[in-house]
Amino acid sequence: MKRIALSVMLCMAACLAANAQPDRQKGDPKLSELYTPVAPVVKPGKTAADAPSDATVLFDGTSLKAWETESGANPAWTLADNAMTVKPSAGGIRTKQAFGSCQLHVEWRAPAVVKGEGQGRGNSGIIFMGRYELQVLDNYNNTTYSNGQAASIYKQHIPLANACRPPGEWQTYDVIFTAPEFYEDGRVKNAARFTVFHNGVLVQNNVTAWGNVQYIGIPEYVKHPEKLPLLLQDHGDLVSFRNIWVREL
Ligand code: MG
Repeated sequence: MKRIALSVMLCMAACLAANAQPDRQKGDPKLSELYTPVAPVVKPGKTAADAPSDATVLFDGTSLKAWETESGANPAWTLADNAMTVKPSAGGIRTKQAFGSCQLHVEWRAPAVVKGEGQGRGNSGIIFMGRYELQVLDNYNNTTYSNGQAASIYKQHIPLANACRPPGEWQTYDVIFTAPEFYEDGRVKNAARFTVFHNGVLVQNNVTAWGNVQYIGIPEYVKHPEKLPLLLQDHGDLVSFRNIWVREL
């Protein structure tokens, strides 16, 4: 009997506690409406590939003026047909402007004439802050190690899909890059993160970079400024780029 009475009392207490909660969906709707801050107006492009009104255009097909070599000289990459193409052995090129967290749109094309295999076929890279590489590689009917294929965060994160178009066709990357943050003493406060769409297909979903890209061994973070140039890699292949724009976040 005592046990039943206790159960009844506990049940009543629970019911009372439930009833005591404020009714969360009653009252003035205005109480849950925010009017500030106001989202800035951004005029979108005609298509998702076109730069929105607040983007910084890094390459519109007409000039390399936003770019320089890694030693600060004028880039020797080939400019033709509204695209720029890697000049093998000329070295990578970087933006004159430095960027931290950003939204990046870039279009790339592997050579139509297929040469080489694995990592030796249409290899380049988009290296955020000169440290965190989103791989560019012709992986259309071309296999390599999964964490080094197109749209991998090189040797760190395998893409969720191989969304490659055939060599010779233009492809898009749309990237949300979150720059890392460091404590004064160099420890990592927040690691870098990537979300990437390859030809509209989600291939990296908010993955965390492990540190500076490494060809051999384990990546690690080394404290660096909040903003640094974006680098396009010369890996010796005739990879072309066009329509590159960025929005700082
Ligand atoms: Mg590469």
